[in-house]
Amino acid sequence: MSYVDEVYEGLKAKHPHEPEFLEAAKRILESLDPIVSKNEDVYRKNALLERFVEPERIITFRVPWTDDKGVNHINLGYRVQFNSAIGPYKGGLRFHPSVNQSILKFLGMEQILKNSLTSLPIGGGKGGADFDPHGKSDAEVMRFCQSFMTELYKYIGKDTDVPAGDIGVGGREVGYLYGQYKRLTGLYEGVLTGKGLTFGGSLARPEATGYGLVYITDEVVKGAGKELKGKTIVVSGSGNVAQYAIQKAEELGAKVVTCSDSNGYIYDPNGINFEVLCQIKQVERARIKEYAKRVPGSEYHEGERPWGVKCDIALPCATQNEVNGEDAKKLIDNGCWCVCEGANMPSDEAAIDTYLAAKILYMPAKAANAGGVAVSALEMSQNSERLSWSFEEVDSKLHDIMVNIYKSVSETAKKYGYENNFVVGANIAGFEKVATAMLAQGLV
Ligand code: NDP
Repeated sequence: MSYVDEVYEGLKAKHPHEPEFLEAAKRILESLDPIVSKNEDVYRKNALLERFVEPERIITFRVPWTDDKGVNHINLGYRVQFNSAIGPYKGGLRFHPSVNQSILKFLGMEQILKNSLTSLPIGGGKGGADFDPHGKSDAEVMRFCQSFMTELYKYIGKDTDVPAGDIGVGGREVGYLYGQYKRLTGLYEGVLTGKGLTFGGSLARPEATGYGLVYITDEVVKGAGKELKGKTIVVSGSGNVAQYAIQKAEELGAKVVTCSDSNGYIYDPNGINFEVLCQIKQVERARIKEYAKRVPGSEYHEGERPWGVKCDIALPCATQNEVNGEDAKKLIDNGCWCVCEGANMPSDEAAIDTYLAAKILYMPAKAANAGGVAVSALEMSQNSERLSWSFEEVDSKLHDIMVNIYKSVSETAKKYGYENNFVVGANIAGFEKVATAMLAQGLV
């Protein structure tokens, strides 16, 4: 049995009730095989993989809170402090009923590699609670956040663990969490990222994931000897990532012909109008079908996803598992030769297998959407300096980071004999730096 298989079998025996985590660990470990087999003696001697797959610590706590009717509730809160070899733990907090330890460990492991790829000094972590903010009043959300932080504050800090938002944790929640941290500790420090601009947030953070996605897509396309200008792009979603991906892609001369929400998608053969999109989604918070009523020539397709539309490039920016094997086949049959993921895990396993078998260019989420966490790390730097950088400065750093991620992913893939396989490239490139740091720091 190979070292990778041995470690996976051990993990399966220890954590049989964590299917999401086991699945992610299996996929990551398998893709690391080329680097592991080259360094097997050293890795084994130092129990490197056994340590890599186990979080340094997991904190679990109860979160008691009272709703507006005076009824008491108890939720479960977590922080998985997975790996601090290259920097303080960094990763979002998710508030969603589906949150459990298995899902947070899976997301935390992915985060270690994503953060490493940014080349910034941030380790991997993830946290959250099985709390559903939907339908809760502001006061209820505030009480929940305050109770959650009353426990979590003991374990985080600007140099130890710096959480951010994720599903269900946006600007409002980050504000409440920050307020309570400051109240409990008396410290005004960059302990959370994604903060409001008036209390330490970074310019260009809202744009970062979408812009970063397009910057790396541009590199992928150039790497294939083509250019983004004039290409037709299909985008899914119409939220934060989708909006800024559309804006930047159009700025660079591509034509984005679709966007969507959970009810259906818009096809606009003239290119999605960013101003109209933002008016509908950011200002009116309305459904995407409104777009077709306002923009002549566009069409609304209720209950469908945009994967049947002819395109060169697809940027899934909505949600997990939104592209399945059949969708991937449809995309390829319609001429799509490049997929870069804005959302986390938008392509299911069958879709990824389809891309790889067809040898189209496929940049996985941990590299393609790393712009968000990269600018969060830049927010940490600005907080430490007590300075705010201009939009242009942050954007230019983001651009450089995405170009470097592409270089590192593609060169690593090539070095290990998997040219243009960016899945292998991203996992190994992310892992290499973490492994080197872990070896240097001894058995801890
Ligand atoms: P938003 O909530 O702003 O937007 C999500 C978009 O996806 C909305 O248009 C939403 O439509 C749509 N959507 C949600 N669920 C479904 C579904 N089941 N089917 C079809 N469409 C759906 O989120 P973000 O743009 O911030 O995030 C999008 C993805 O990017 C997520 O996977 C997130 O984890 C990932 N990501 C985000 C980062 C960031 O900085 N924001 C950083 C890295 C990754 P509706 O309005 O109908 O719900």
